[in-house]
Amino acid sequence: MPDLDSLPPLREVIAAHDLRAQKSLGQNFLLDLNMTDKIARHAGDLSGANVFEIGPGPGGLTRSLLKAGAEKVIAVEYDERAVQALGGLQEAAGDRLEIIHGDALEIDLTQLSQSPRMIVANLPYNIATPLLINWLRKIRNNPTNFQSMTLMFQKEVAQRLVAAPGNKTYGRLSVIAGWLCDVTMAFDLPATAFTPPPKVTSSVVHFVPKALAGDAPSFEAVEKITAAAFGQRRKMIRSSLKGYKAGFAALGIDETIRAEELSIEQYIQLAGS
Ligand code: SAM
Repeated sequence: MPDLDSLPPLREVIAAHDLRAQKSLGQNFLLDLNMTDKIARHAGDLSGANVFEIGPGPGGLTRSLLKAGAEKVIAVEYDERAVQALGGLQEAAGDRLEIIHGDALEIDLTQLSQSPRMIVANLPYNIATPLLINWLRKIRNNPTNFQSMTLMFQKEVAQRLVAAPGNKTYGRLSVIAGWLCDVTMAFDLPATAFTPPPKVTSSVVHFVPKALAGDAPSFEAVEKITAAAFGQRRKMIRSSLKGYKAGFAALGIDETIRAEELSIEQYIQLAGS
């Protein structure tokens, strides 16, 4: 039985299974195991958790997660060719690796394992934001649903996720993510680190869910207010957020400011007002 250290190079795995990258599946593979090891390190201690990986592809990051000590990796992959290509790794990893052939957008990860759960993934960029929104919704329901998430995005999306008020990239994602998690930018990866290279730089972002206030508004209420405010970000909030006038008065918020000047806390207070 092969062990994790004697697996063939990823390029050979790709060639043997004809795993040519498909743009429609957001396939930009990381074949340099130093890079995937670095992502696994940034995820922190993997030993006691069920680690979910979305889109293992040829399995570089999967190898790194297993080598970094993950007790169990549950990898969800849509592409049948990649599922086949992961056969050797599956044999080497035994019970520590479970591969699920399916669409990550349709799968509720919290139904697949007990907590603690972590997500570590080089996400397919075409669905990275909807996947993140699904997981943040789960965190709103219960912050212990995920212990942490360590995710690769296009740098432009990563910047939106960590943006502070007043910044031109501050928007819906900054408010929703910053409300529910401590969000930090871990590091950038140049396009040349990937095969094939995407058009843009990528960044790894680390999320740690925060405890939730007892009177926290619903996820839908926060989605609604941020959509209204940032959908008309140049308008004063007295016109973009007409329905929240009573809240402005009660919370002492100046109604002539614009969407990007309201803090995350103010959005959350208004959403619950
Ligand atoms: N983890 C690999 C790596 O770092 O080299 C591959 C990352 S690649 C950016 C994204 C992966 O997500 C691909 O393997 C792709 O087939 C897979 N994928 C795309 N859409 C998916 C979906 N809806 N559900 C699960 N996996 C998906």
